[in-house]
Amino acid sequence: MDRQQEFVLRTLEERDIRFIRLWFTDVLGFLKSVAVAPAELEQAFAEGIGFDGSSIEGFARIHEADMLAKPDPSTFQVLPWRSEAPGTARIFCDILMPDSTPSFADPRYVLKRTLARAADLGFTFYTHPELEFYLLKEQVAEGGKPEPVDSGGYFDHTPHRAAHDFRRSAIMMLESMGISVEYSHHEGGPGQQEIDLRYADALTTADNIMTFRLVMKEVALEHGVFASFMPKPFTEQPGSGMHTHMSLFEGDRNAFYEPGAEYQLSKVGRAFIAGVLRHAAELTAVTNQWVNSYKRLWGGVGASAGAGGEAPPYICWGHNNRSALVRVPMYKPQKGHATRIEFRSLDTACNPYLAFAVILGAGLKGIEEGYELPPGAEDDVWALTTAERRAMGIQPLPQSLDEAIVEMERSDLVAEVLGEHVFDFFLRNKRAEWEDYRRQVTEYERDRYLKVL
Ligand code: GLU
Ligand code: MG
Ligand code: MG
Repeated sequence: MDRQQEFVLRTLEERDIRFIRLWFTDVLGFLKSVAVAPAELEQAFAEGIGFDGSSIEGFARIHEADMLAKPDPSTFQVLPWRSEAPGTARIFCDILMPDSTPSFADPRYVLKRTLARAADLGFTFYTHPELEFYLLKEQVAEGGKPEPVDSGGYFDHTPHRAAHDFRRSAIMMLESMGISVEYSHHEGGPGQQEIDLRYADALTTADNIMTFRLVMKEVALEHGVFASFMPKPFTEQPGSGMHTHMSLFEGDRNAFYEPGAEYQLSKVGRAFIAGVLRHAAELTAVTNQWVNSYKRLWGGVGASAGAGGEAPPYICWGHNNRSALVRVPMYKPQKGHATRIEFRSLDTACNPYLAFAVILGAGLKGIEEGYELPPGAEDDVWALTTAERRAMGIQPLPQSLDEAIVEMERSDLVAEVLGEHVFDFFLRNKRAEWEDYRRQVTEYERDRYLKVL
């Protein structure tokens, strides 16, 4: 048994923890949990705990259903909302096949495999997500209208007590689980919140995002409200994005930083952006995986970014340009190590393991193949006409899940990063979602057509 495993077992005893939830994530990004007793954990560390993989979305077919969840002791945390003794803790797991090889269906493994490729080139991938979501008065029944907890807007403070108290408890809970929060504020929509997590390596960040979504839901319940990560719940309000700041480090050195270069951005940084842009359309089904995700990307509120739309539907990059898909934030000259890019199409309802894997895969491809970075866009790209955008070579992202699936289907890069199993399952599942959606007759159509036609 290694030192981390021993530490976990000792902590269980010292803190009287009797339930350990083993966590993992299905292919669509839903958290799965099985509770084990402390006595089982030693065995779980050694071999894993068996479960029926065919009952987990995207994991296995019925005839190869036996799988093992093997806890990663470095992710052990006591759950603070279950603080009364006896306590409860959680550990993220890696998923194995009965012969102890990693399962190709495990999203955590997909990310680990891509991180290992980065490591072969000498890089560690760091990410810092800005998580947006809505706080609603209650969970709505089917067909009901969601009601935000307040009517606040961007950075609003005083009159919105519910949101303020909520953020305070939520942040304290995250911090007590070892998840550092950098900023938090009221976002543009009524009831909309943003909480930004501190930089961490991408695997830790992805684990943290899974924890974050659950913690927000738990804290909201405690406050008698409801938290939703749906990308675009309201037609007339901005959607909830997950802009993510990214950089590659070589040891202690930020590989995106080059003093004196334009925007302090190194050749490696430029090639990474070029890779992400060239493959952006192919990876959008993964970063924006729901029918509703495209309402956020294309349903900008108001004429432009200024009105709080700010979700980026066009493939371009810019310096300090909030209409661009990739933004290179203003640098602080004294803080070269902070050089980074902000990727802005992601939404909070993605599977963070798969999303980080495909973005990193595209960036690495740009570096390996030495892609040239096209010129940056310094205009508000929403305000341009289609012809102007075309003349500048700026292509749109897919406009629907359907278009995104078509782009992904022909992507060698996404197939390679996800692996055949996840790639095939994901496409099948998303195709079915699209087909289900496309046959729906909506409220919009009845309102518009029933009387006049
Ligand atoms: N809510 C916007 C989005 O969907 C982002 C607003 C911002 O933080 O700039 O991406
Ligand atoms: Mg924001
Ligand atoms: Mg941002």
